[in-house]
Amino acid sequence: MTTSFHPPVRTLMGPGPSDVSPRVLAAMSRPTIGHLDPEFIRMMDEIKAMLKALFKTDNELTMPVSAPGSAGMEACFVNLVEPGDKVIVCQNGVFGGRMKENIERFGGEAIHIQDEWGKPVDVEKVKAAFAEHDNIKALAFVHAETSTGVRSDAKTLCALAHENGALAIVDAVTSLGGIEVDVDGWEIDAIYSGTQKCLSCPPGISPVSFSQKAVEAVQKRKTPVPSWFLDKNLVMGYWGGSGKRAYHHTAPVNSLYALHEALVLVEEEGLENAWARHKKLHLALRAGLEAMGIEFLVAEEDRLPQLNSVVIPEGVDDAAVRTALLKNYNLEIGAGLGALAGKVWRIGLMGSACTERNVLLCLDALENTLIGMNAPIKVGVAAQAALEVING
Ligand SMILES: *Cc1c(COP(=O)(O)O)cnc(C)c1O
Repeated sequence: MTTSFHPPVRTLMGPGPSDVSPRVLAAMSRPTIGHLDPEFIRMMDEIKAMLKALFKTDNELTMPVSAPGSAGMEACFVNLVEPGDKVIVCQNGVFGGRMKENIERFGGEAIHIQDEWGKPVDVEKVKAAFAEHDNIKALAFVHAETSTGVRSDAKTLCALAHENGALAIVDAVTSLGGIEVDVDGWEIDAIYSGTQKCLSCPPGISPVSFSQKAVEAVQKRKTPVPSWFLDKNLVMGYWGGSGKRAYHHTAPVNSLYALHEALVLVEEEGLENAWARHKKLHLALRAGLEAMGIEFLVAEEDRLPQLNSVVIPEGVDDAAVRTALLKNYNLEIGAGLGALAGKVWRIGLMGSACTERNVLLCLDALENTLIGMNAPIKVGVAAQAALEVING
């Protein structure tokens, strides 16, 4: 007989999912109601209002896509890219490459700008691409590259797009809730995020927002949106306005309870306080790691507080350390991806997982594990260095 599944209780300090608050898990287990129930629709309106505050936007088309971050990405490109459209796409890690693939699959022409993994998107290269090509429909880039831990200058890149008459499409899957994202202030036209990174919800929902200019671009299309499910014109019959809601697909009712509760948590803490918490605990983690002799991959000014890529010490077996952390401490940290596999660990400090306790747990667990492997680290100093930052 197959028995019920009871997952182990882990501490999630990888690239996502992050630890989910007990309040969010409790919300998710409340009774399912109909997705057109007036009470459910009232909750949907609250989700929309809280998402607008989180994205810092008045965009009417702000809603959660009923699928993970990758579907939010696809929703942006499938609606905005038509066959023959030229899109400048910046790649400085894994996720920019997925944007490029989306553009090409929808018949667009990707003008591909590549930067070294671990470096931000080079604004000068983007300027050069705009100078070289005309009729660019959009500029697409990743704000927070989770594969490397790098923040790119979204504000400057969006300004460049607008100076050149292009739309700005931004991946904010890892940035939203962890660092500043200002959709209206930076005039972002299409943005997508995910629930399982700094919002600390279970995975499976992707908040998105489209500016008026982006909505007009969708309405002016010469060809129908090739995806039925992600077509914004259709989905807005369910999520749009405040009038009558029409059936489009059955919303993931309980997952939206979870998102609602996670957004309530952000509101209670205050968005700016949440950014400050991520920053402070990143500095505490950094102090501990550096005291141990472990170095960061990314230059200080480009680092994401919520995703810390650190260089694996000489001679240390990457997988053995991660396995030991999971087995002995129930602690998950992330491996390197692609070109960085085996070279870095990615330590997440996202949302509910971004706590003082987790910083100290991670430092102690890593130190003890590395001692057991005779790694060349300085011992007995990490926790103290982190506590000095935490206690100011
Ligand atoms: C996680 C992530 C995605 C994909 O999100 P899924 O929910 O895994 O589909 C896209 N972009 C970035 C930057 C991410 O970190």
